[in-house]
Amino acid sequence: MRFTVLSLFPELIEQGFNSSITGRAAEKGILSLRCINIRDYASDAYGHVDDYPYGGGAGMVMQAPPIYRAYEAARGENPRPRLIYLTPQGRVFNQALAQELAREEELYFLCGHYEGVDERVLEEIATDRISIGDYVLTGGELPALVLMDAISRMVPGVLGNEDSSRGESFMDGLLEHPHYTRPEVFMGRPVPEILRSGHHANIERYRREESLRRTLEIRPDLLEKAELNQADLSFLEKLQKA
Ligand code: SAM
Repeated sequence: MRFTVLSLFPELIEQGFNSSITGRAAEKGILSLRCINIRDYASDAYGHVDDYPYGGGAGMVMQAPPIYRAYEAARGENPRPRLIYLTPQGRVFNQALAQELAREEELYFLCGHYEGVDERVLEEIATDRISIGDYVLTGGELPALVLMDAISRMVPGVLGNEDSSRGESFMDGLLEHPHYTRPEVFMGRPVPEILRSGHHANIERYRREESLRRTLEIRPDLLEKAELNQADLSFLEKLQKA
């Protein structure tokens, strides 16, 4: 997977991406990151990339020409790269979208700042508009990192153990079960007995039930779309009656 990010703060992206799992995958050549500083394509020697909004109002707007020049320089031979504009007005990001985007070979991200970006350049180059949630941040860099991280985990070879993403929250429509590791007792709280029993079928059932219990308590809305078998439904019914 090749990521290209158009941003006014490329160092923020590079620092976040090159740490931990995504950084290691980049070293192995499974992922690559290219950051383009939009300011390098400014119209004047002062590096101006924003201006007052037509029609008045608070704040500044990122100008179309520097962004378009940065895009043109980055896209090379690719006539229409898939370019995601990060915006609170976009489709809300989730695991299913991460899985879909992970199937691409190359993705571009455009990070906005100030009041946002001149609409005309978005019409020209953005193929997708994606939000990371119903709140407003100062810039698109953190959202771009959020997307790249979630997408990267779905790219084969990025997680050491291919099983690691299986069973995780949202992968099967449910929240994941709780996790425990040593010590066996922490502040008087022992690890659930069943997890030390070595009985794989019972452990699997226990985890499934804990996953159902959590989802019912915290995100009952997810249960409407989750794939549930008869045993799951009976367990949920028992919980609801209790
Ligand atoms: N004026 C815009 C509005 O009301 O929709 C908000 C602009 S915001 C202050 C500046 C930039 O941060 C946006 O252009 C976008 O790139 C990014 N941003 C802020 N919140 C975001 C969110 N929830 N998801 C994705 N990007 C976001």
